Amino acid sequence: MGSRILVVEDEPDLAELVAVNLRGAGHEVTVSHDGSTALAEIQRSQPDLVVLDVMLPDISGTEVCRRLRRSPQTVRLPVIMLTARSDEVDRVVGFEVGADDYVPKPFSPRELVLRVEAILRRTSAAFESEGPQAIALGDLVIDVPAHRVEVDGQEVLLTALEFRLLHDLASRAGRVQSRDALLERVWGYSPNVETRTVDTHVKRLREKLGAGAKHIETVRGVGYRALKS
Ligand code: CA
Repeated sequence: MGSRILVVEDEPDLAELVAVNLRGAGHEVTVSHDGSTALAEIQRSQPDLVVLDVMLPDISGTEVCRRLRRSPQTVRLPVIMLTARSDEVDRVVGFEVGADDYVPKPFSPRELVLRVEAILRRTSAAFESEGPQAIALGDLVIDVPAHRVEVDGQEVLLTALEFRLLHDLASRAGRVQSRDALLERVWGYSPNVETRTVDTHVKRLREKLGAGAKHIETVRGVGYRALKS
């Protein structure tokens, strides 16, 4: 089954190349050529995933992604960013922007299709089928099927990646998880992701959890551990 993908890129040839390859892989593709059109299109058609170029003529791709992360409707929408500059990467997949992944330009269309499918797979991976429906770490409560997190009764908006990270730690509460193990389980693959990416995301997760952050402990030199109380 194909997914509905929005490609946001102002260079027509590149947009077309990406669209053709994703359609070839069985997906339904729409193209937007600037950031504001993309935001309107996302509102209207609610795609399953967005391929988003950083350099756009109006609102930058990073700003588009930030705005998506601020809204409850799109906080978990999978976003893959296309970036031409390696110094952007930390920002793009880090807490500042919150994309799920990035692909550096120039890229092979096949590589992009593989990344898209990896993200779609891990997004649709059912948490529902195994394990408890709800996990509580003190006043931090995870409603697993709803992908909803509350701290002291207040909902915390997490991206899909942040939710998977928290769920992974919480479902193994009391046991230390290494960065490598988290990378493998939460990110699903690791060729382009460095272990410090885990630290960046844990930092962001803690910021969002506020008082609930005390339930995630750093184990120096090893990794992280969720605490039940
Ligand atoms: Ca561009």
